[in-house]
Amino acid sequence: MWQNYSKNSDEIYENALKRAKKALPEHSADDNRFKIPELNTQIQGKRTFFRNFKEVLAMLNRPLEHFLKFLSNELGTAGNIQGSQAIFAGKHSKAQLNRLLKRYVNDFINCPECNKPDTKFVIQGRVSMMKCEACGASSSIRSVG
Ligand SMILES: [Zn+2]
Repeated sequence: MWQNYSKNSDEIYENALKRAKKALPEHSADDNRFKIPELNTQIQGKRTFFRNFKEVLAMLNRPLEHFLKFLSNELGTAGNIQGSQAIFAGKHSKAQLNRLLKRYVNDFINCPECNKPDTKFVIQGRVSMMKCEACGASSSIRSVG
C-alpha cells in the first residue's frame, strides 16, 4: 500500500519535472527570439560608417527616421543614409553604438509592462503610442531629442 503510494507520488513528481523541463527551453527560446545582428561599423577619416544599418533596422521593425534621429541625437552629430548604411559625422566606436542600440531596444522596443519585444508603433489620434501585442499594453513613446 505504502509502496504503491510512494511510486505514485514519484510519478507525479517526475511528470511535474518533465513539464517544467519542457517549459524551460520554450521560455528561453522566447527570450532569445529577438536577436539583433552584430553591428558592422567602421571609422574612416572623420566619419563613422554603420554598414549594416538597414539590416539592424529590419530586425528592430521601427521607422528608419526614428532610429536614425535617435542615433544622431545621442551621438550629437548628423547622420544620413547611403544605400544600406548610415553615415555619421565624427568618430564613434562600435562599443558606443552597441550601447545606444541596447538603449534603443530598451526604450523603444521592449514593452514597459511585460518587457517583451512584441511591440509596434501605432498612431492614436495625433500621438504615436507603443502597443504591445503580447500583453496588450499601450504606452507613450519617449520623444527623441
Ligand atoms: Zn507587454
